[in-house]
Amino acid sequence: MKIAMVGTGYVGLVTGTCFADSGNRVTCVDINAAKIADLNAGKIPIYEPGLEELVVRNSEAGRLKFTTDLAAAVKDAELVYLGVGTPQGDDGAADLSALWAVVDGLAPHLKPDAAVVIKSTVPVGTNAETFARLREKTGRDCHVASNPEFLKEGAAIDDFMKPDRVVVGVRDPQVGEKLRLLYAPFLRTEKPFLVMSPESAELTKYVANAMLATKISFINTMANLTEKLGGDINDVRRGIGHDSRIGFAFLFPGVGYGGSCFPKDVRALEAMFERAGIDPVMLKAVDVINEAQKRTLLDKMTEFYEGQFAGKTFAIWGLAFKPRTDDIREAPALVLIDNLLAAGAKLRVHDPEAADNVRAIYGDKLTYCDQPLETLDGADALAINTEWAEFRQPDMNDVKRRLNAPVIFDGRNLYDRGLMQELGFTYYSIGRQTVR
Ligand code: NAD
Repeated sequence: MKIAMVGTGYVGLVTGTCFADSGNRVTCVDINAAKIADLNAGKIPIYEPGLEELVVRNSEAGRLKFTTDLAAAVKDAELVYLGVGTPQGDDGAADLSALWAVVDGLAPHLKPDAAVVIKSTVPVGTNAETFARLREKTGRDCHVASNPEFLKEGAAIDDFMKPDRVVVGVRDPQVGEKLRLLYAPFLRTEKPFLVMSPESAELTKYVANAMLATKISFINTMANLTEKLGGDINDVRRGIGHDSRIGFAFLFPGVGYGGSCFPKDVRALEAMFERAGIDPVMLKAVDVINEAQKRTLLDKMTEFYEGQFAGKTFAIWGLAFKPRTDDIREAPALVLIDNLLAAGAKLRVHDPEAADNVRAIYGDKLTYCDQPLETLDGADALAINTEWAEFRQPDMNDVKRRLNAPVIFDGRNLYDRGLMQELGFTYYSIGRQTVR
């Protein structure tokens, strides 16, 4: 199939590349000319494991192209995928201005039998509004489908190639069949291809993210209680997870969720509730709990240092909102950095992939270290925000030697409390008793 993929970010680039990899001819479009120039030169603008090799292979095979020319990409395409950003607007709802700019821009060039497929996460009613807008611009009924994306940054290629399910929302069953063919190479393990109305498909994406965000805020709330009452959340987690109705997935306490999806999608769903006249009590709580949880390491550090941070130096491991990505949008680490800098602390930071994005915000206000252990040299304590694999088993004797004092604030429960006690650390973690 000939496909135009409009919006070449985390989702657009992965989607376009994976469709090209199964033999389709894909043209990725973006308004960011620097990004397109990089991609045409074989440079990948984001860090995503496995992506570079796939982009290079499919570009060399002539199946994957990059351009800023929307008209040229759309005029031959059977499917025009929309993957532009839908960030949070001032009122909490999704800001669809990029999407509408693309819809208006592509309308004059759309082939009569082509389908526009919305991959971006968009509020219920966006498919219908796209249909109405295209009818107004073209004078005919155009096919508009919804195909929300469930991939995770850090495992995006794998998630796309082996999805748990594919959801499509269509009005015309023929468009559904075309999308079924497109996805057939990715569903050979009999995972379901679910066809529904555009409204249900649009809502499915928000409900999935709201459920995941709720699980995180749920376990974080329980962790905070467990910590106060004298238990260990890890034991509680095991105790509940073996119940098959509950399970273990996505129930790890930490420093709160971040990224470009959960925060904005929870708020956009709140806005949909409000529009529907229903008070989104539960979602408000999920959001409030998360904002507080992003301060949890800061609260523990404030207690330990009695609020006196001036003249102190801290090492920070992990800046991305989660491992295996360079994405720092709404990352909890930024809350810690902002507050510690404001209180007069000096910070030495390390992240395997996200340091450049952090440098673009903070410049020389931070000291950037290439290696985790080097980050500790001369620091008064270590604070951990992201559970990158390389932080799990450092040489703890070396950690102790390098720090000015053996103090760790662990936002991801990476280490065994007993071991930390034996080694003489002061060790704060989440939902567990502090080792002193
Ligand atoms: P992103 O910010 O990485 O990429 C968006 C791209 O769209 C940018 O490259 C931008 O330059 C481009 N763009 C903006 N306006 C444009 C225009 N008028 N014409 C052409 N290109 C334009 O965003 P993302 O993380 O890829 O997210 C895209 C959508 O997918 C969002 O709706 C998001 O909620 C959803 N989504 C994201 C993820 C994720 O993990 N990142 C997962 C599932 C769904």
